Amino acid sequence: AKYVYRFSEGGKDQRDLLGGKGANLAEMTKIGLPVPPGFTISTEACRAYMEKGRVPPELRVEVTMALREIEDRIGRRLGDFHEPLLVSVRSGARFSMPGMMDTVLNVGLNDASVRGLAEFSGDERFAWDSYRRLVQMFGSTVLDVDGAHFAAALEEKKRQAGAATDVDLTVAHLQDLVEAFKGLVREQSGREFPQHPREQLDLAIEAVFGSWNTDRARLYRRRERIPNDLGTAVNVVAMVFGNLGETSGTGVAFTRDPSTGHSGAYGDYLPNAQGEDVVAGIRNTLALAELEQLDPTSYRELVQAMRRLETHYRDLCDIEFTIERGKLWLLQTRVGKRTAGAAFRVATQLVDENLITMDEAIARVTGAQLSQLLFPQFDADADRDLLTKGMAASPGAAVGEIVLDNAQALQRTAAGVDVILVRRETNPDDLQGMIAATGILTARGGKTSHAAVVARGMGKTAVVGAEEVSVDIGAQEVRINGTKLQPGDVIALDGTTGEVFLGRVPVVDSPVMRYVAEGVHAGLEACAGDDDMRELVLAVDRILTHADEVRRMSVRANCDTATAARQARERGAEGIGLCRTEHQFLGDRRGHIERLVLASTDKERAEALAALLPLQRADFIELLEAMDGLPTTIRLIDPPLHEFLPDLTELAVTVALANERGETGEDAARDAALLTEVRRMHEQNPMLGMRGVRLGLKVPGLFALQIRAVAEAMVERRRAGGDPRPEIMVPLVGSVREMQIVRDEAEEVLDEVCRSSGELLEPPIGCMIELPRAALTAHRIAEEADFFSFGTNDLTQTTWGFSRDDVEGAFFADYLENGVLTISPFETIDGDGVGALVVAGVTAGRHTKPRLHIGVCGEHGGDPESIHFFHRAGLDYVSCSPFRVPVARLEAGRAAV
Ligand code: PEP
Ligand code: MG
Repeated sequence: AKYVYRFSEGGKDQRDLLGGKGANLAEMTKIGLPVPPGFTISTEACRAYMEKGRVPPELRVEVTMALREIEDRIGRRLGDFHEPLLVSVRSGARFSMPGMMDTVLNVGLNDASVRGLAEFSGDERFAWDSYRRLVQMFGSTVLDVDGAHFAAALEEKKRQAGAATDVDLTVAHLQDLVEAFKGLVREQSGREFPQHPREQLDLAIEAVFGSWNTDRARLYRRRERIPNDLGTAVNVVAMVFGNLGETSGTGVAFTRDPSTGHSGAYGDYLPNAQGEDVVAGIRNTLALAELEQLDPTSYRELVQAMRRLETHYRDLCDIEFTIERGKLWLLQTRVGKRTAGAAFRVATQLVDENLITMDEAIARVTGAQLSQLLFPQFDADADRDLLTKGMAASPGAAVGEIVLDNAQALQRTAAGVDVILVRRETNPDDLQGMIAATGILTARGGKTSHAAVVARGMGKTAVVGAEEVSVDIGAQEVRINGTKLQPGDVIALDGTTGEVFLGRVPVVDSPVMRYVAEGVHAGLEACAGDDDMRELVLAVDRILTHADEVRRMSVRANCDTATAARQARERGAEGIGLCRTEHQFLGDRRGHIERLVLASTDKERAEALAALLPLQRADFIELLEAMDGLPTTIRLIDPPLHEFLPDLTELAVTVALANERGETGEDAARDAALLTEVRRMHEQNPMLGMRGVRLGLKVPGLFALQIRAVAEAMVERRRAGGDPRPEIMVPLVGSVREMQIVRDEAEEVLDEVCRSSGELLEPPIGCMIELPRAALTAHRIAEEADFFSFGTNDLTQTTWGFSRDDVEGAFFADYLENGVLTISPFETIDGDGVGALVVAGVTAGRHTKPRLHIGVCGEHGGDPESIHFFHRAGLDYVSCSPFRVPVARLEAGRAAV
């Protein structure tokens, strides 16, 4: 294997092999920018090191050769007694991991070469300060000495010397410090500071490899979803010095402003300093523009280099540079990080400057950035008092008074007060309170818990699973980390970070949201003279418009109500992909379902159904009106029974108490009868139980009723001059037989309504694919289905065998911790497993019906990474909550370019 690459050998597209820093150093060398000579040890070498636990022997030989070339070019030898070459040894992985891994500067200095450096540079103080820095850095990063020891020794020296800053230390002080630091190394690590330059280099290289696997690096990667097995490259670069007096210095620069995108020279400069001084904030930096006065030649050269980089990379770049006695050197560049707003502005600016195309522009922004721009946010400048942190379940910023139940929520909101509903967990009974609240906080539950799904669906801010929150309904008290709160106390939730704050934190609205919901005009109006914001709104508009033009998949929304449907439509939804009809029966209509399911005679059942028909018809009329002319997928009822029946334990307690008290009244008799029925229906695993099509086949007339309601709503809408386009969807199908039975029943009902109304009614009848068996037998199911929609929530649950209601609280944290999972499969589609079933289902379904229309309506339909997967899998649409529609439009566009 070849492990070492000269800067002249690589290029910017080799980030996998050379890491980001190495690839860009090579690229800058290639295009003739002033980069100090050096070489990169590839990530392959790091992987070999991790595998074998030692540095591969060939590497030493390759390093020797590459080093020799640098020495020959510069005409100095590493650690030479007279004119020493010094090198820096820096990590550089495929993905930037700022500050997570090791760097050692000034490698090559020892008791002899420090004198050589002093003589050669003509600056004795500089030489000893460099040596002092080497022992310190080498000691802490390579030899694992606690950095605090060095810092304490330095402070002590400054105190003794009466020096205010490092710069006030004299040569003699620094010489003392070097001795003291070497003593610390000896004491703390049990070995001498190595004097041999090559030994220093080899140990530093090994330390950088090792730093890939420190706890903090692993933690960072887990958070950023960076794979653990990539390894880091190591860059060995000839040192140039920014601390050789007033004609030297170091700084960072951006080719345009990373927060607005405006072009110009943005950055900081620190005269007479080394790189880490800028970061450590030891002295105040100057604005980059001041360099123009200090050193016009270097400044001009820097500005030229920035222009060159920006046209070459065709993007905003950031740069680290050093000026050594009037000579400019570039030490690093990369495509620069930027705020969400700047990402949109820069992308369109680059289009206007003819550097990129619109296709490229949409690739330069992300759905995550767009959603950041859509939600109201806490004012970044405001003070805040953090109480605790839970899971960020539904983004946004919510401030309100604590309420603990529906009654309090309704009462306070009626009085015009914003409220936050705080619960241990939520269930369908809390729906009223959730609707009334501006935010929801729960102590338990994960990202697909009831609270989270419902909140996302409504676009409400929610933080769930905040374990430090305890709710005592009896005492009307909430305790968070020792703080006692009561209904009426104000808290603030950040649904983007999961943070919970005490008291009022000011919220700022988003003009981008106004634009998305009401169009360009309203968006610009909301900018109120803020030119940067206007530019942003226009940039978002151009990018979203282009995404709509290029995407293949259409975007629908998951909506259960006409209000949600209208919101979705405003945001660009092209239909409803999932109306969960069981949600239409939550709250005060729940009793209808309870009566129906528990009915023991035909008469009782018929009554329960008769009561439902007008309600459902009215629901569908409203929904079809809101979605007039667009496909509206109505899913037949899919209630996990535990959400609709009274709680078995509670009911049993009520009945037992009544018995004990000898109560015999009507209520007691009804409760006792109900208990028998609930016992009969009780399931250990309701999510695997009588749901969806199973319930439909079990309770005669239930699906027929819903289908009739759809058909009658169609007739009504047509008579009102509308263009209703319902699609009927059957949930939780596992076998083609189930589908056949429902289809026959549906066709019978539709025929009847056709005959009685004289209208031709042929809504497509399709099914959800949300069980592995359905995906695997999709070729059969497609015989009876006009369309498929992947229910990836249940498909994930049943493929992994993870309960979607329990999993995140139970052991996900451990799974994420020990790397079994890098992200919840309920959030981003598990491509290898669940995704393979999606692909199999698509292939099999289209084998039977080549033009079979296929979409997805699980939570993944709004997740950026998953949307790209569904595009590749050949889906026709994704369906997601109304608030994620703009994000899905953008990502579907990005997937297509
Ligand atoms: C699904 O399972 O992915 C789905 C959309 O249905 P529900 O979430 O209602 O079970
Ligand atoms: Mg489902």
